[in-house]
Amino acid sequence: MGAIADAVQACQKRIEVACAEAGRPSDCVRLLAVSKTFSAAAVREAHAAGLTAFGESYLQEAQDKQDALSDLSLEWHFIGPLQGNKSRPVAERFAWVHALEREKIARRLSEQRPANLPPLNVCVQVNVGNEPEKHGVPLERALDLARLVASLPGLCLRGFMTIPEASPQIARTRFARLRALLEQARAEGLPVDTLSMGMSADLELAILEGATLVRIGSALFGARPLPEK
Ligand SMILES: *Cc1c(COP(=O)(O)O)cnc(C)c1O
Repeated sequence: MGAIADAVQACQKRIEVACAEAGRPSDCVRLLAVSKTFSAAAVREAHAAGLTAFGESYLQEAQDKQDALSDLSLEWHFIGPLQGNKSRPVAERFAWVHALEREKIARRLSEQRPANLPPLNVCVQVNVGNEPEKHGVPLERALDLARLVASLPGLCLRGFMTIPEASPQIARTRFARLRALLEQARAEGLPVDTLSMGMSADLELAILEGATLVRIGSALFGARPLPEK
């Protein structure tokens, strides 16, 4: 087996163990492979090892990979910050958006979603800790944006996403807070089912706190060649 196939297995095992420790069924957490900065060949290898959902942060790079891999049936997730002038290709070429934080972009994505495709799945990104340099809406505004997404015909509200700071103790409280937000949204009748939280370093904590989708890059593909934006 190749290195990526080994890593896919190891990662699936980590998810399985974390689910068991959390007392949750092992099929309740989806693995999103974050392939940003990695090659189309690496994605092909991960697909051969059983993965179908891939996350990208940079639009041009993502489009090049999508074109190179158009023979495969892949589900593409846009997980990076999204600017207004880049919304059309995202609306046309992706199945999910994880980092929605602006009303105007929600409206645009909805208008630009092609009628022959199912609505674009959307998670609202929440800056749970109100960290100054981070993306996402503050907790107080998350439900308003979620309600708007739920009302737009081209979008399908799925839930919430967060990227907390590195410290495990703080990360865990942030994950728990995002889960409380999901429950609040549900209680008021919003059709949410997704908590997109947990990355290579903290997927176990996120699963303990209710993650339904973990976004994993380096644990699958190795250290990223380029510095993080
Ligand atoms: C890069 C990235 C990830 C993956 O991070 P790893 O630590 O490599 O697993 C997850 N989510 C987002 C939004 C990212 O930009």
